[in-house]
Amino acid sequence: MLIVMKFGGTSVGSAERIMQAGQLAVDTAAKGHEVVVVTSAMSKVTDALIGAARLASTGHWDPALREELFERHKAVADVLVGDDAARHEAVLGALRQRLERFEKLCFGLSMVHELTPRLLDAISGTGEMLAAPLVAAAIASRGRTSQAVEATELIVTTDQHGGAEPLTDETRVKTTERLKPAIARGEIPVVTGFVAATADGVMTTLGRGGTDYSASIIGAALNADEVWIWTDVDGVMTANPSEVPEARTLAEISYSEASELAYYGAKVLHYKTILPAFRQRIPVRVLNSFNPGHPGTRVTVEGHPSAQGVKAVTSIRGVILVAISGTGMQGTPGIVAKTFDVVAAQQASVLMISQASSENNICFILSATEAPRVVAALRIALEFELMRGHIEEIEAEQQVAIVAAVGDRMRGAPGIAATVFGALGGAGVNVIAISQGSSERNISLVVAERDAADAVRAIHRAFQLDKMS
Ligand code: ADP
Ligand code: ASP
Ligand code: MG
Repeated sequence: MLIVMKFGGTSVGSAERIMQAGQLAVDTAAKGHEVVVVTSAMSKVTDALIGAARLASTGHWDPALREELFERHKAVADVLVGDDAARHEAVLGALRQRLERFEKLCFGLSMVHELTPRLLDAISGTGEMLAAPLVAAAIASRGRTSQAVEATELIVTTDQHGGAEPLTDETRVKTTERLKPAIARGEIPVVTGFVAATADGVMTTLGRGGTDYSASIIGAALNADEVWIWTDVDGVMTANPSEVPEARTLAEISYSEASELAYYGAKVLHYKTILPAFRQRIPVRVLNSFNPGHPGTRVTVEGHPSAQGVKAVTSIRGVILVAISGTGMQGTPGIVAKTFDVVAAQQASVLMISQASSENNICFILSATEAPRVVAALRIALEFELMRGHIEEIEAEQQVAIVAAVGDRMRGAPGIAATVFGALGGAGVNVIAISQGSSERNISLVVAERDAADAVRAIHRAFQLDKMS
């Protein structure tokens, strides 16, 4: 089998973790499989890089960060290959070269004071470029030939910086040409996650948490047999285990459940991960690098449906509810169309929509980073309607969260909404807005952010998800 395996930030967060990642790759290859590794940056490195870029854009460049990053990665190289002078020097050379580039970019930024999305991508992708040589060294020190490969040479994307989309055909050609010969020689290539490049070679990123997506893009390009996502929990669970301690691992879920869960906030998978794998029906596994004996979760077509419908509960924080209301909206055509034209023109994505049947209120949810510019644009575009009183208010309510109950079998199952709302009522949680996707694979609701954890736990309890398997 050809297996593409991805290691997340905590799974490569220290020398010990990188050794373990290398071991997992080598062990899998020893069983006769072909293996391609895709790695994230070491934990917290991407945040530090973005912080440095923001600071540099205000004119402050602190060279200490370059040194800190060098020391953190060098300490790993010392442990991994300290006793092999040539290999050690080669890894340090790679680290220095990448940090030099990072420093130059930040220095330039501190002069021009303008952080463009393009420049932010060039800087924030440095973490993966630092991690890949270390993971490759860990594999090589275990006797398998391994080389770090920059995904900028493999994944071709659009130029939507900060959330670029892969161009499938171009990516397939490049990835196959570059990786297949190495795989055929029995090598284990280590690809930088998160980053990619346009057809002109300009570096892009796939969005925060995008290394999962990189793995499935590369898996699809190589016609891999499986994609394995190694993370820090025992697979996809019935809820975020850090919020719901009694959450259980789901042994099997469907592609649609996985993408719905990821979309509604289950951070364990980047929300775009499933699509490239689904198109080719490549099974995806989510596994725990801290507990590799655990079978984790398998994402498949059937997904082992659960009789009771709801399989998991998720939440999205950091979102804003925009409400447009006014009794004059009733029967005034075009307001909804105009509203969503503005949202689209701002390239913002709507996480959830709900319209009261009286037609005098529409509300939708945007991420907190996108909402201010959308609301400002709406006030301009709907100025006439506001002036005429067709719309009374455009409100943006801050501290809310979306809570979603997800499962394929919810379709047509009676009583699910009643159970959800009963649970919330019992927990004293006020529901601000409701939406049920027409796919009937989820019910999502908006609650005050401070109520989100209680809401998730109450729904989890009501469907007895702690007894799920
Ligand atoms: P990685 O660094 O491996 O990409 P992430 O932090 O991006 O890991 O994702 C794993 C985390 O996702 C877990 O530690 C957990 O806190 C969180 N999480 C949220 N919802 C879920 C869920 N339903 N199942 C499992 N983990 C979840
Ligand atoms: N390092 C990137 C991030 O922190 C991508 C990833 O880890 O998936 O967002
Ligand atoms: Mg992640």
